[in-house]
Amino acid sequence: MPASPPRNLITGGAGFVGSHLVDRLIEAGEEVICLDNFFTGRKANVAQWIGHPRFELIRHDVTEPIRLEVDRIWHLACPASPVHYQHNPIKTAKTSFLGTYNMLGLARRVGARLLLASTSEVYGDPEVHPQPESYRGCVNTIGIRSCYDEGKRIAETLCFDYRRMHGVEIRVARIFNTYGPRMLPDDGRVVSNFIVQALKGQPLTLYGDGSQTRSFCYVDDLVEGLIRLMNGGHTGPMNIGNPGEFTIRQLAELVRARINPDLPLTCQPLPADDPLQRQPVIELAQRELGWQPTVPLEQGLEPTIAYFREMLNR
Ligand code: NAD
Ligand code: UDP
Repeated sequence: MPASPPRNLITGGAGFVGSHLVDRLIEAGEEVICLDNFFTGRKANVAQWIGHPRFELIRHDVTEPIRLEVDRIWHLACPASPVHYQHNPIKTAKTSFLGTYNMLGLARRVGARLLLASTSEVYGDPEVHPQPESYRGCVNTIGIRSCYDEGKRIAETLCFDYRRMHGVEIRVARIFNTYGPRMLPDDGRVVSNFIVQALKGQPLTLYGDGSQTRSFCYVDDLVEGLIRLMNGGHTGPMNIGNPGEFTIRQLAELVRARINPDLPLTCQPLPADDPLQRQPVIELAQRELGWQPTVPLEQGLEPTIAYFREMLNR
């Protein structure tokens, strides 16, 4: 009998990052179960695979246990945009804690390897710049971002305790700001906000004076990094991000130069606990996975703008 293809469970698979991962794994000949509660995910993101013999879509909330026979669990389920994760912060914390607990329980029962989509937010508002994996972070435990930041920190802790106690094979990716097609237009994240505002001819909203920095990774680069991490021998935590650092004002300039250079930039209040700077050290990923991003921001903005242009014209 020919060997059967690997069976993948992708939680949050109908979301922005998850749906790109679904594409890659199906195209590689693997089986994919996409599990999502559709809080911020959309069926349209995976519609191209509905009816495909190696694809299944399950509506399920990861805060409830589930039994499935799989080899690999890509645990991405969790809203990622501050607007969405702050909408119901208690639910966000539950999703991170109970969701990761349930998925680790499943991994233990069926002997699957689990990759956790953690985040650069575990570094909080960092006093160390750029951020290596050894930096332990500066997170406010009681602020409006804490449900997400602390949720991901306990999710990482659970992964390493399941590894130590039960020998579960884990991989932990600390993902830095990622952008690309299939972000929601009303997502509230800065790349989608600026592009949608510019396409609608509206002023671009800088929170604060726009001097805070982020490092933006194109989604295809991120997915390649996640696949290499899952397939490799290093547990992480491993930073996966693009070290190209930009101020938010620079990002606004890049976006409006491509869409409408005459648009004004307006300043709005900086949200509480908004990190001042963020840039990954990616030496570990370079050394262990032979991975580094290949798409500079200026290049990745083009397909992202094209995606939103088409979406708004529909
Ligand atoms: P997203 O909001 O587009 O996707 C999250 C998906 O999880 C959505 O499809 C949503 O419906 C689903 N989901 C949320 N709560 C759920 C629940 N309780 N049960 C089942 N499904 C649930 O976000 P994304 O940008 O694709 O992020 C994916 C993962 O990567 C998240 O875990 C996020 O924390 C992590 N991450 C993303 C970024 C980024 O910049 N995109 C950065 C750091 C970490
Ligand atoms: N931001 C902004 N204008 C917007 C949306 C966001 O200036 O319309 C800023 C936000 O304050 C933050 C940065 O852009 O400093 C990145 O925000 P995002 O929500 O994309 O991600 P995160 O803060 O989680 O890194």
